[in-house]
Amino acid sequence: MLKRILWAALAMIGIVVAVLAWNTWRLSSRQLDVKTIAPLALERDAVAARLAGALKFRTISDAASGDTNAEQFVAMQAYLEQAFPRLHATLKREMVGHSMLFTWQGSDPQARPVMWLAHQDVVPVAPGTEASWQQPPFDGVVKDGFVWGRGSWDDKGSLVAQMEAVETLLAQGYQPRATLYLGFGADEEVGGRRGAVEIARLLKSRGVQLDYILDEGMLVTQGIMNGIARPVALIGVAEKGYASVNLAVQTAPGHSSMPPQKTAIGAISAALAALEKQQMPVELRGVARDMFDSIAPEMQGMNRVVLSNLWLFAPVVKQQMAQAPGTNAVLRTTTALTVVHAGNKDNVLPGRADAVVNFRIRPGDSVAGVMAHVRDAVNNDEVHAELDAGASEPSPVSPMESAQYALINRTIREVFNDAVVAPGIVIGATDARHYKDVSQHVYRFSPVRAGKDDLPRFHGTNERLGVDNYLEAIRFYVQLARNGQ
Ligand SMILES: [Zn+2]
Repeated sequence: MLKRILWAALAMIGIVVAVLAWNTWRLSSRQLDVKTIAPLALERDAVAARLAGALKFRTISDAASGDTNAEQFVAMQAYLEQAFPRLHATLKREMVGHSMLFTWQGSDPQARPVMWLAHQDVVPVAPGTEASWQQPPFDGVVKDGFVWGRGSWDDKGSLVAQMEAVETLLAQGYQPRATLYLGFGADEEVGGRRGAVEIARLLKSRGVQLDYILDEGMLVTQGIMNGIARPVALIGVAEKGYASVNLAVQTAPGHSSMPPQKTAIGAISAALAALEKQQMPVELRGVARDMFDSIAPEMQGMNRVVLSNLWLFAPVVKQQMAQAPGTNAVLRTTTALTVVHAGNKDNVLPGRADAVVNFRIRPGDSVAGVMAHVRDAVNNDEVHAELDAGASEPSPVSPMESAQYALINRTIREVFNDAVVAPGIVIGATDARHYKDVSQHVYRFSPVRAGKDDLPRFHGTNERLGVDNYLEAIRFYVQLARNGQ
């Protein structure tokens, strides 16, 4: 009897191993096969200097007033006019506040127009960190193979690269078949209400439907993902939604010498602890699943076996990924306890306690779903939960099986030959979300390489962009325009 059980167990293990091996082998590469293209020749020093020039303007945006640093935006626009004379002579420029909409008329009026986005504004340098910059943040220094300064990466790098690409194409006597719009917001970092929202409204009022939109977003990551040595270029096909929930508890205030069993602080603390403990579920489906299905066949060893056999390993993979904040944020609607207020004197029980919990909503979940989750998890009628103004649903998911996605995919593979391309979810917010009415194909990808060391530079200290990488970015946009024909 024992022998038979042993044999049966061995047979089972044999079958599982065979299935694992079969799935691992069967999962074939999803990478497009493209011919390598010879890199377009660019004047390295002149090109780097032109980007550096744009970094000298302190175009820091402000949510309250669109006129904050107005003279900086005006001066940068005058600089760009000087730096890109062909572009300004050929394309129509319309001002929407300090935001800009350029139109490069295509030769075929029947062809659906396309649009590239970037933003002119930058985030401030955190007070007290100025001295930590290796090069001053607003001097526009090119040194040691890098263009240094606030905005070099986010997002003047993309903006000036797009202009450089258009200028290059114009110098070659090129005219696009489809009209190309360039939308350069001036308030992306503070929500895009005056820029992207208004530009999108303007296009909509003119009946414009865009074939695709390309905005900043995901990157060419290097050494950031476990189990894969090659760079991974992620095309953002969706971005997460946003909801802050205000929690409040009201009780009678009292003296701390005779406390009741239940207090405002106790109730709000229990609610917060419950929300942190009972997180919204981790889901390995939708875009996240497509991302791993695209990357798995390019992996080596055990990582490949595991990701090729999610039928068996999904629980383990989910648990592992939930541990790391980076992957956790991709797989679930995240919960972040951000504000708490209660009490002001050591011997007085406050009559009120307040807190704010910020959720970033995964495509597939919703603002209403978050509110239902809050009520369930808190499970206490004395805790009043209210949605804060400014909540937004996750963006629609742009198609991955489309000609538009394939166009961006192919261009990435041609310019970044070594990169694996996969769809991804943008966990921050971009101007692109405001354009959903004028295009069903909204993609978010910055042609910028970034490793682990680079991530803290984003909105942080010592922001910089490698000159070689900047040349790749320009080539990407030139090639994207040409491939679109
Ligand atoms: Zn940005």
